[in-house]
Amino acid sequence: MESAATLLAEVEDRIAHACRVSERERSEVTLIAVSKTHPPEAVESLIEAGCRVFGENRVQEAQAKWPELRERYPGVQLHLVGQLQSNKADEAVALFDAIHSLDRPSLAQALARAMQKAGKAIPCFVQVNVGNEEQKGGCAIAELPGLLAEARTLEIPLAGLMCVPPLGIEPTPFFAFLDKLARDNGLEGRSMGMSGDFETAIVLGATHVRVGTALFGGRG
Ligand SMILES: *Cc1c(COP(=O)(O)O)cnc(C)c1O
Repeated sequence: MESAATLLAEVEDRIAHACRVSERERSEVTLIAVSKTHPPEAVESLIEAGCRVFGENRVQEAQAKWPELRERYPGVQLHLVGQLQSNKADEAVALFDAIHSLDRPSLAQALARAMQKAGKAIPCFVQVNVGNEEQKGGCAIAELPGLLAEARTLEIPLAGLMCVPPLGIEPTPFFAFLDKLARDNGLEGRSMGMSGDFETAIVLGATHVRVGTALFGGRG
């Protein structure tokens, strides 16, 4: 098993290469280390290796794992990258620095209420179901303008768009499409790209890449 520092250096090399070929600055891309299923010790090794932004996909798991890490490493950020139930909005707002899975008006309303209650505004990415897949998080492409309008009315800070393209298909067209949707809607952020394809995502404009396996090794 390679050390956290080695794995991080390998991922950083891949990011640097993708930035170079697309004439982008490394500072334009945030690396989110997706630590779901991995124990706090694995997170700590990556923090010590220099990682500063982490992602979890379940509120419950993050609640169990992160309060202590947060206390010990106050400079570290935590993003929610997985689906969120409206009844967990308060917990999510308390725990996370950004949410990548805003995908329906009812959730926008719940988050707006939770943010108001907590007196804390959290940047949100609107997740788009770019492959038009059943059973997948993300708003339908046709519903994006309405959802963005709703989020703006509710004064939710919009960070950008997020997607998880269909598995097993070439992701390039989906990344290009998310980039276009972000541009058309005047949004800065593009949260796209995972362990297998983040270089392509960076070349196509990703501002946030969500990398699990390549940083932590396989999930047990
Ligand atoms: C697990 C997960 C990732 C990371 O996937 P890897 O292939 O392990 O890099 C990225 N985004 C989301 C939404 C995830 O749930």
